[in-house]
Amino acid sequence: MINRHLQQIIPATSVSDGAGVKIKRSLGLNAQLRFDPFLMLDCFGSEQAGDYIKGFPPHPHRGFETVTYMLDGHMLHEDHLGNKGHLKSGGVQWMTAGRGIIHSEMPQQEQGLMRGLQLWLNLPASEKMKPATYADIPPQKIPLCRPANGVSVKVIAGSFQYDGNEVQGPILGLSTEPQFYDIRLQAGTELKLTLPQDHHALLYPFEGAVAVKNADTLQQLKEHHAGLLSQGNSVTLFANADVSVILLAGKPINEPIAQYGPFVMNTPAEIEQAIRDYQQGKLTAAGPAGQITLNTPA
Ligand code: FE
Repeated sequence: MINRHLQQIIPATSVSDGAGVKIKRSLGLNAQLRFDPFLMLDCFGSEQAGDYIKGFPPHPHRGFETVTYMLDGHMLHEDHLGNKGHLKSGGVQWMTAGRGIIHSEMPQQEQGLMRGLQLWLNLPASEKMKPATYADIPPQKIPLCRPANGVSVKVIAGSFQYDGNEVQGPILGLSTEPQFYDIRLQAGTELKLTLPQDHHALLYPFEGAVAVKNADTLQQLKEHHAGLLSQGNSVTLFANADVSVILLAGKPINEPIAQYGPFVMNTPAEIEQAIRDYQQGKLTAAGPAGQITLNTPA
């Protein structure tokens, strides 16, 4: 077993996006701060309505997937395909923009806490122009594992192995093989996770701090810092105090990236095409609607 350690830390920076929603961005702050296949990781969280109320009015995407994990609050997603989904605490929205989608994400509350994460996951060239697809995953479809006392893991994507068990999440079978866990550790507990050797993996503690343990060393990762891990087939997390941390792992695509705002392609010419298609109303034209099939283990 090769145990992974922290090899790079990206502190989140406060930025605003959409129609003035305040977010903390770590991955994706600039082109050097991606971690193939992960393009961007945003965390939003505020009890002040002014920080989120204007939401994300209609905007396009092409060439990748967006994953929204709602921790607290209520947002409404609507897109040009006619999809309409209420995203509530503990729920996930997995959207494959593919050749193009135009959608909005608007808060459905005028007060109280709104908190969650949004991840941008790249697609390989062969899938960038596939039909747009969309899945709402309600909290009850996300398995919760309790591998030890004081340790819980929600499996949003991929599968989680412990004590000879394998628990599959609702999102499986994508070419980037994403693993997406929400891990809660109580003070003094630790968790050893198995990960595919060559997948890029990172941690993002969104409440509290976590440590990565190797023999007798502990590398600390503070709240709202993205911790990129070295390669290896396991990682051991340790909590000095209660922590909630996201673990993401995915298979690198190893292709060139050309990005202009919400369009992520391989070449500048493809970006120009995306902009032209959007301006001419062709971003979302033609082609059958796609479908994401949720994995529902028996
Ligand atoms: Fe969007």
